[in-house]
Amino acid sequence: MNTQELEKEDSTRRTFAIISHPDAGKTTITEQLLLFGGVVRSAGTVKARKTGNFAKSDWMEIEQKRGISVTSSVMQFDYHGKRINILDTPGHEDFSEDTYRTLMAVDSAVMVIDSAKGIEPQTKKLFQICKMRGIPIFTFMNKLDRDGREPMDLVDELENVLGIEAYPMNWPIGMGKTLTGIFDRYNHNVELYNHDKDNKPTKIVDLDDNNDPVGDDKLAEDEQFQDAKDAIELLDMAGNQFDEAKIATGDMTPVFFGSALVNFGVKTFFDAYLKYAPAPSAHKTEEGHVIEPDDDTFSGFVFKIQANMNPNHRDRIAFVRVCSGEFEKGMDVNLYRTQKKLRLSNVTEFMANTRENVKTAVAGDIIGLYDTGNFQIGDTIYTGKKQVEFEKLPQFTPELFVRVSAKNVMKQKSFHKGIDQLVQEGAVQLYQSYTTNDYILGAVGQLQFEVFQFRMQNEYNSEVNMDPMGHKIARWIEPDQLDEKMSSSRNLLVKDRAGNPLFLFENEFALRWFKDKYPDVKLTAKL
Ligand code: GDP
Repeated sequence: MNTQELEKEDSTRRTFAIISHPDAGKTTITEQLLLFGGVVRSAGTVKARKTGNFAKSDWMEIEQKRGISVTSSVMQFDYHGKRINILDTPGHEDFSEDTYRTLMAVDSAVMVIDSAKGIEPQTKKLFQICKMRGIPIFTFMNKLDRDGREPMDLVDELENVLGIEAYPMNWPIGMGKTLTGIFDRYNHNVELYNHDKDNKPTKIVDLDDNNDPVGDDKLAEDEQFQDAKDAIELLDMAGNQFDEAKIATGDMTPVFFGSALVNFGVKTFFDAYLKYAPAPSAHKTEEGHVIEPDDDTFSGFVFKIQANMNPNHRDRIAFVRVCSGEFEKGMDVNLYRTQKKLRLSNVTEFMANTRENVKTAVAGDIIGLYDTGNFQIGDTIYTGKKQVEFEKLPQFTPELFVRVSAKNVMKQKSFHKGIDQLVQEGAVQLYQSYTTNDYILGAVGQLQFEVFQFRMQNEYNSEVNMDPMGHKIARWIEPDQLDEKMSSSRNLLVKDRAGNPLFLFENEFALRWFKDKYPDVKLTAKL
């Protein structure tokens, strides 16, 4: 492809994640989008995957056992001239680390909120990561087919709790049993809700300049319609102005109401979303340069490594977000960290629910590289003479720790191999005690340890002992300020995988005590 063709291809890409608190409806909405894209033919496919009836994605036993989605996956499809890449993020709080990293690979985010519950803790955490990146965030207030909270309340909460300006693109007319439709402020019409049948084409009623329905007297006289009209008029007068620039920087979120379950308002949302969601943006390098998507050299970074997608093959897949240029199967790339050249011949993409062999991919696309241990999370690959290293992915400080050892001392080799690979995948973080060299694992949530233990046994045939150490506060210390005598039972000295020293403090009190005792010592947390 020449630059012009590349630019044209890039401009069709929309790469995003759906973020939500568990049970807000992320899976259900994803499924509706896949239906629009013709990827699945009937509702329930993704759901079945979640409940374990869908063999294709049943690659991980634990995923079925726990009934939760353990790792993110990628779904790609074409819709209305755009190529959509949805990066799935597990909602379970224990897997937030994986989720956070996935958010580094998207250009925008869709935030799904249960309109009966409002902003929940996990939504808030995920929102903050998107905000930190300054990417556009679109809000879908879900479950309008059930009674929820007052719409104005929800919008106020969104603004106050998350600190973002909201612009309602539409407004519910009634709710739950009395749901009549949505007042579409953006398209200036009313989309009527059909209680009789799911997924039936929705009737659209036009509005005149006074916001009154054209040729629908019944609707004009409907009290709920009048309430919605009043709300819209109030918003027009006293609410935020629609501001594309603010949406682009994540300072304003367009808000849509609807119901994923009955597929009401989802298409309206998605069409407007695609209009304002950004095409792939430029990416910054460690050196502070900017790589544009239509740069003629290829570049990308690994944001996730996943093992054993297919239990019959003990393979790992490194997920690469393409940032520039064009990927071609069999091409040679440079791996920045090792300065090694690699040929990318064994590659997979995620088009239409099958892992077809990829031929070309451009900025915004995700490719999966079969990996035999070459890659680590955060790695940059590129072509061309100029070296490229993308900005480091943020590290999330674990809060829970366990001591880990092999049950069978004769099996040290498989124990070490397993730990090595799982740590490289970023499943858990590894530390070693300074004095005894004991292995200590850190994670954001307990479930990560369980998955670790399960996979050590199943994939590496290594039974492990895990001795819980509880919650700790991890703080790194400059090596030249370190004195080993500073370590005590309440602030254990350990080193991370790169050999950097840090303390694991028992609690806030122990941390404060340490700071009082050594006021000149600089301690740092990693996000
Ligand atoms: P996730 O955990 O965010 O992926 O949530 P799911 O998509 O699995 O939905 C959680 C539950 O809420 C399921 O029982 C869904 O059927 C239900 N649900 C999702 N969307 C709606 C909706 O619009 N209306 C109603 N009434 N239920 C919904």
